Amino acid sequence: MRYDLIVIGAGAAGLSAAVAGALHGTVALVEAEALGGGYVRRDVPAAFWHRVAGPLYGARCLLDGPMRPGDELTFAALAAQRDAAVRAWRVRAERILAEMGVEILYGRGRVLAPGLVGVDGGAGEILLVGENIIVATGTYCRSGCGGGRMVALEEALALRALPCSAVVAGSDAPARTLALVLAVWGIPVHLVAEGEGVAAVRRLLEGAGVRVHAGAVTGICEDEAGVTVRLADGTCLRADVAVVDVPGVPATAGLGLEELGVAVAPGGTIAVNARMETSVPGVFAAGRAAGAPSTQTAVWEGLVAAYNACGWPLVLRAEAAADMDITPFDAAGFYGIVSVDFGMPS
Ligand SMILES: Cc1cc2nc3c(=O)[nH]c(=O)nc-3n(C[C@H](O)[C@H](O)[C@H](O)COP(=O)(O)OP(=O)(O)OC[C@H]3O[C@@H](n4cnc5c(N)ncnc54)[C@H](O)[C@@H]3O)c2cc1C
Repeated sequence: MRYDLIVIGAGAAGLSAAVAGALHGTVALVEAEALGGGYVRRDVPAAFWHRVAGPLYGARCLLDGPMRPGDELTFAALAAQRDAAVRAWRVRAERILAEMGVEILYGRGRVLAPGLVGVDGGAGEILLVGENIIVATGTYCRSGCGGGRMVALEEALALRALPCSAVVAGSDAPARTLALVLAVWGIPVHLVAEGEGVAAVRRLLEGAGVRVHAGAVTGICEDEAGVTVRLADGTCLRADVAVVDVPGVPATAGLGLEELGVAVAPGGTIAVNARMETSVPGVFAAGRAAGAPSTQTAVWEGLVAAYNACGWPLVLRAEAAADMDITPFDAAGFYGIVSVDFGMPS
């Protein structure tokens, strides 16, 4: 099979690269797990909880006390709605990609040579040939999360049952939303967070019953009955679960990059220039695997990588990209416009 562009990884960066690439030519999108990557594990459920947090808090105020599991509106019912929103997102994503002619291949991809990708979907490796390759494999969680009482933020956003109590450590909006959503059900919730974001909503959080602590977490220790979170000022917080927002590790090992001579930093981040080109011609990288600090930047990087791969020399201004809201499918809005206005790149 021969394509103009092969994209490995269907997270925020890979999706936007595939969509932008499909405006100009044939695209194969290789995904090891499910469409959406961290965007769907984190941003989509966080947006769902963000939408329901206000009405939940309002209901709590009207009831003059915490919601109870026996109330008609249950946490489990909302969790089911959240799961439906995630499923609907993936169905919509598949439909848009299909409409744009992007071929999705499920399996683990690796770069065998410039222009050659192997995909292992479980029944042997198939080979894809492409003019250019974009590596957008994102990050994976460090070990220590994903089991027991220490839960990564994205896992906590996907909880199906309420814990008895929680310490949420994280300064980003999804962590604040989660703390609020848990607290309205009346369970003890501590939020360990710093920065302007938490200062602006501190009174609202405390009004909902969240106990807000500034300062860094210096240690977390798990036992059979619970978890103890130690803060820099010596405070120890005890809870059923600790939710931590740890930065992931670039998922760049085993992709064949080093064998190919693609420059990779010691932490695993792929080195790229402002056109998202790696040190090997024809191999681009985008998103968290290439060091993107946020979803927005990952989306912009995917778009810029695809345009450069297709012959349009765009340069990313990272400082501007960080402030501009964009979703992985925004480039689809150009569908039918770019190719008509500018013609196909040679
Ligand atoms: C721990 C963590 C912290 C985050 N922090 C922030 C934050 O601070 N700010 C913010 O805005 N957003 C944050 N996010 C949210 C968001 O996930 C990322 O910003 C964004 O999704 C990165 O997109 P990506 O495409 O680079 O990577 P990902 O979303 O990780 O997508 C990569 C995709 O590649 C696939 N893949 C990996 N290896 C292979 C392979 N060999 N073959 C085929 N497919 C493969 C994966 O299954 C995945 O679907 C965070 C996410 C996590 C998990």
